[in-house]
Amino acid sequence: MNFFNFRCIHCRGNLHIAKNGLCSGCQKQIKSFPYCGHCGVELQYYAKHCGNCLKQEPSWDKMVIIGHYVEPLSVLIHRFKFQNQFWIDRTLARLLYLAVRDAKRTHQLKLPEAIIPVPLYHFRQWRRGYNQADLLSRQLSRWLDIPNLNNIVKRVRHTHTQRGLSAKDRRQNLKNAFSLAVSKNTFPYRRIALVDDVITTGSTLNEISKLLRKLGVEEIQVWGLARA
Ligand SMILES: [Zn+2]
Ligand SMILES: [Zn+2]
Repeated sequence: MNFFNFRCIHCRGNLHIAKNGLCSGCQKQIKSFPYCGHCGVELQYYAKHCGNCLKQEPSWDKMVIIGHYVEPLSVLIHRFKFQNQFWIDRTLARLLYLAVRDAKRTHQLKLPEAIIPVPLYHFRQWRRGYNQADLLSRQLSRWLDIPNLNNIVKRVRHTHTQRGLSAKDRRQNLKNAFSLAVSKNTFPYRRIALVDDVITTGSTLNEISKLLRKLGVEEIQVWGLARA
């Protein structure tokens, strides 16, 4: 457990308990807040749905997030995603694990039967060397003793960044970007969790959710590190 050399991976301060790589000070700065258990928007109190979801209902059913995309969480995510520091997976997965455990209490979340990481386009994954969502879901799968289905949803087309696009253009951009590597008859899971890093518009998650419904999935949870 001491592969972090007893230094906080964020502030480099001494760690008294070298458990998940963060010192208690940095850990405390990553604050959870009351949010909507469906779309993840911040609320005054914990609720399973909110007015936001009523206006624009997500295709998934539940959401779990660690916190806002602010320091130190945002810095850790950035290092993990863009600076090849894949070994931060353990710390981030641990925070997500705790958020899932909290959601069981705050949102009456039931654990899924399987976990699916949001896939990357293969070229991107090859260039980066790893899919960050899959690294997270591997850890979670181990701790929760739930299978990690990292090869059933494929990203078959490269999609340009979703930023700055209208909702309609985003849908168009993602059309046929994903495909399934299993069929309904062979897919036994009814409650699954999709693991993502930063949740922005949710349009990718919507597309994958629609595909998963075709497999007979009844409840789709989204587990993300932060909601931007
Ligand atoms: Zn620290
Ligand atoms: Zn909501």
